[in-house]
Amino acid sequence: MSMRLVSVVLFLLAGPLLLGQSQYPKDVFQPPLDIPLILAGTFGELRSNHFHSGIDIKTQQRQGLPVYAIADGTITRIKISHWGYGKALYIAHPNGYTSVYAHLQKFSPEIEKYVKEIQYRKKSYEVEIYPDFGEIKIEKGGIIAYSGNTGGSSGPHLHFEIRNSLNEKPTNPLLYGLEVRDATNPSLVSLHAYPLNSDAQVNQSNERIQLNYSKQADGTYLADEVKAIGTIGFGINAYDRQDMAANKNGVFEIQQLVNGRVYSDFDFESFSFSETRYINTLIDYTYFGRNKQRIQRCFKAPGNRLSIYKELFNDGKIEIKEGLSYTVEIRIRDLEGNTVTVYIPVVGIREPLLKKSEAKQTPYLLKSKQTNNYDLGIASVYFPENTFYEDFHIDLQPGRDTVKIHDNSIPAHKNFTISFDASAYPQLERKSMFIARLSRKGKAQYMNTYKNGTSFSTRTRELGTYTMAQDTVPPKIRPRNFKQKQWLTNYRYLSLRISDDLSGIASYTATLNGEWILMEYEPKTSTLTYNFDDVILDKKQCNLEVTVTDNVGNSTTFNSSFFRR
Ligand SMILES: [Zn+2]
Repeated sequence: MSMRLVSVVLFLLAGPLLLGQSQYPKDVFQPPLDIPLILAGTFGELRSNHFHSGIDIKTQQRQGLPVYAIADGTITRIKISHWGYGKALYIAHPNGYTSVYAHLQKFSPEIEKYVKEIQYRKKSYEVEIYPDFGEIKIEKGGIIAYSGNTGGSSGPHLHFEIRNSLNEKPTNPLLYGLEVRDATNPSLVSLHAYPLNSDAQVNQSNERIQLNYSKQADGTYLADEVKAIGTIGFGINAYDRQDMAANKNGVFEIQQLVNGRVYSDFDFESFSFSETRYINTLIDYTYFGRNKQRIQRCFKAPGNRLSIYKELFNDGKIEIKEGLSYTVEIRIRDLEGNTVTVYIPVVGIREPLLKKSEAKQTPYLLKSKQTNNYDLGIASVYFPENTFYEDFHIDLQPGRDTVKIHDNSIPAHKNFTISFDASAYPQLERKSMFIARLSRKGKAQYMNTYKNGTSFSTRTRELGTYTMAQDTVPPKIRPRNFKQKQWLTNYRYLSLRISDDLSGIASYTATLNGEWILMEYEPKTSTLTYNFDDVILDKKQCNLEVTVTDNVGNSTTFNSSFFRR
């Protein structure tokens, strides 16, 4: 190990390992913005297939607010992508934590210059850069960037994370003393009970059932008495609001007690990116698919490998015995300790079921622990072992060009492969064909299609209906802020609108007088932008050429000339 590497490792090791698990430095980091911190999202918040790994700080519906380094450090990573974090910056700090700033509009001038040199060298807007350790040093409170809305962001805000530098685990940024005003209790939206073994029942049902509750004088909730037998569990839908904003954010901790004993307790202090997809075992995924609401279950369902549990007894499941009575108490907390509590009285009694629901039977019983391969004629589907958390009857329905591979009521943890046989189509037609996923409304969404002769395949983690589709229409390109042969001397940038009707835009490239220029692509607004500061033009007349290619290879070239002095 070189001396330099040794010092890097020591630098990274310095902090977290010397601290206890729940001790975080409280007075080292300053806030990343100089406005009051109001959150549009909390750490651990339930998102699509993942837990939110940071906090979303509102930026007053604006872009361009200065973003400050929360402490001294060195930039370890800069990433620019059309999706995800957009423009993002990572700074490692001497205490062993790395701060992450995402959806940025642009970087500070020095960093911007450093990044653009690399973008021009690689001829790519999307880049991922790992500067040498110590190459770009940052001082606490220095402006590192300006807040924006780039990548998968649906409104101006700063996505901010604090990770453990060594293992990359994101930690809750509010554990470091950043001030966010919150005297508001979490809100309970709905309460649910689940029969969990074959002869269990809740209120004469052998399926999930929603429970009624009412508010009591002391602010807690009391559910109507539940009549149950066998192994049961509970789940809640809840959100937390901070002060000064209406955003419905995630709660910090959910604790379940039965007759005073803790049966389950989990919180969002930290988690790892490798486990984040197991969110689909925490929530009731089927319910989410139907109602777009996320129930967090207070028991550990099959396949759940989350490390967020502080305490578990009997996996949070409750054995209800005939003739006994129980008090289940669920406490929902935010990070400030504001708590909402619901009490559920349960009596053990077996009553006739009102209607017995049977799990849907199909000819195909999928055993989750083994590989499963199904030939559906026009297509085949291959599931590697442990693609799913549980065994189930999979619904497979082949059609002419379309196959139904169950529906998205069951979560897949791993990618599986769908292959189509396109041999019925002539070669020329196959060129513009691709595999698409059909939305519930029948809209075709392009899937990354690998073509091997007449065989098309794609990998996905979503069950649903897939089809072969065709795109013969090339992308469209249209200037937004200039015209042919126009004088653009006072213009700061060029803007164009690009779009593709079906398969979507795969790539684009632009030149000015034959030299590659950097165009920033913002898919949300279908906009390509060129900044005139990038290149000093040596000619009065400039020839612009922009080529855009869609996902099946149709391409369009746009030419225009303008004048500039
Ligand atoms: Zn975020």
